[in-house]
Amino acid sequence: MAGVDAVTAGVDTAAAIVVLGQGSLETARRIQAALPAGSRVYGLSGRVEGADVTYDGFGETVTGLHRDGVPVVALCASGIIIRTLAPLLQNKRAEPPVLAVAEDGSAVVPLLGGLQGVNGLARRIAEALGVAPAITTTGDVRFNVTLEAPPNGYVARDPGASKAFMSDLLGGATVRLEGHAPWLAQSRLPFTPGGERCIRVTPDDRAPEDGTLVFHPKTVVVGVVGGGEDLPDRVTAALAAAGLARAAVACVLAPEADAPSAGLRRLETDDGWPVRFVSASADPAVLVATAVPEAERDRPVWLTGAVAIAVARAPEAVRPVGHARGHLSVVGLGPGSPDLLAPAAREALRCADHWIGYETYIRMAERMVGMPRPEQAVHATDNREELDRARHALSLAAVGARVAVISSGDPGIFAMAAAVMEALHDAADPAWQGIDLDMVPGITAAQAAAARVGAPLGHDFCILSLSDNLKPFDVILDRLDHAARADLAMALYNPVSKARPWQLGQALDRLRTIRGPETPVVLARDVARPDEAVRVTTLGAVRPEDADMRTVILVGSSATQTFPRPIDGGTWVYSPRWYGR
Ligand code: SAH
Repeated sequence: MAGVDAVTAGVDTAAAIVVLGQGSLETARRIQAALPAGSRVYGLSGRVEGADVTYDGFGETVTGLHRDGVPVVALCASGIIIRTLAPLLQNKRAEPPVLAVAEDGSAVVPLLGGLQGVNGLARRIAEALGVAPAITTTGDVRFNVTLEAPPNGYVARDPGASKAFMSDLLGGATVRLEGHAPWLAQSRLPFTPGGERCIRVTPDDRAPEDGTLVFHPKTVVVGVVGGGEDLPDRVTAALAAAGLARAAVACVLAPEADAPSAGLRRLETDDGWPVRFVSASADPAVLVATAVPEAERDRPVWLTGAVAIAVARAPEAVRPVGHARGHLSVVGLGPGSPDLLAPAAREALRCADHWIGYETYIRMAERMVGMPRPEQAVHATDNREELDRARHALSLAAVGARVAVISSGDPGIFAMAAAVMEALHDAADPAWQGIDLDMVPGITAAQAAAARVGAPLGHDFCILSLSDNLKPFDVILDRLDHAARADLAMALYNPVSKARPWQLGQALDRLRTIRGPETPVVLARDVARPDEAVRVTTLGAVRPEDADMRTVILVGSSATQTFPRPIDGGTWVYSPRWYGR
């Protein structure tokens, strides 16, 4: 447990310090030393050497960081950054801090993010640089505090009330402080014991009288054992019985084995409480003791029944203990180019603590999204160990990690999603069922290849893998046979490899016994990658040596058409929407 006594909000988030020229690197490093661990210096490529991260476009980089909620300290004219971010500004409650700092460190200007602690950041940076911050927020200037944005560990009971309250104080009203909050006590608010107004800091759920502003400190920890559908109702009842405000809950603690409980999940999603897992106990009182030592605890509230609940109250705001629910994303990279990567996939890669995948796909992801960051662990493994890789990913997520398992194309097509499902289905550890698991789809090779030549898969089609690693070759031939007889267009994956040199020839021969030699065939190699090569031919002409393991082969149906593409001498291919024979 650690008490939270930051004087202003937002100051414990790692920031990006963005520099445009070599001359400001030294100032940037001094700023970095004053900011939270994990803050990094971004240097413009070609201009700045020795930065932590090199970027290409200033505008894209800063807007990307801003969108991701990262505080930005830009060593440039404030006008540049204002112009860059102006089109994005929408929600003052959610916007992260943005500051401009003069290249030589002589001026520190908080620009945006007043409700996310920009003034606190400005003070910290200015102190490190030995200058006065250019703070313009009236209440902050006079009283050294932003009531609208209490620091982490405190929430306003009525966020809308603080603005008018501050206006009254600026107008000369006096105020008294009830309860314990270092950030208020250390401010310059005109506190006097008999003040007309009152700022009360309390976890109690009591409506304030007029002229009183209430902040709830996050001092309440709820321990729950046994999960259960009705958990949200029971926790609500327990808090009501204790007279404690919902907003004062710092965290709900539960045993890891309860992670699959739907009621527990709803406490996170519907009630918005951080749920934290600890590897121990079946006793809720022991659970809360991990966050709130017994000596500091008010009398716990007990509710017996299927779900055991303990509620404890610490004297100070508590930080959550244990670990959060783990998250596993099985991410499809698409065929290879960054513009065919889904934003959701990019986001999953950005958020992950661990990247797991076949080495080739890890390298591909690195090229596509310019990551991983130094704090992201990379586990590159050999392609054949799919189930082991899936279990490794699940075991990391079960103890709270955010994990991305990486596949090319779509993860559900001859890739990792099925392996993760299989590992989860067989899981011995119940905590695995409590992992927040999602599949992030990608554009599969067949779609990417089809798009290059028109619409060869415009009607019914099937996708087949010619790999006999995991299924007998007889089955492959039999399926090709049926697909050809059903007159489906086909996308053939894994057509050939060093270990399987002869299978493709047999497969094509089998198709030729059913489909005519004029049937259009597309050979698409490395689609959406630098060495892309796409060729249109026919079933009569195609040879096994025309394909390798980086090729996907599309075979038309009897209705598939081709016609010339004069603009580049190529050929259009399509399967019409109608069907008639
Ligand atoms: N999950 C992947 C497929 C993995 S199987 C997807 O959805 O695309 C591997 C096979 O996919 C390769 O042998 C090849 O046939 C095909 N493939 C994958 N990416 C490709 C690309 N960019 N160009 C051509 N074929 C590709």
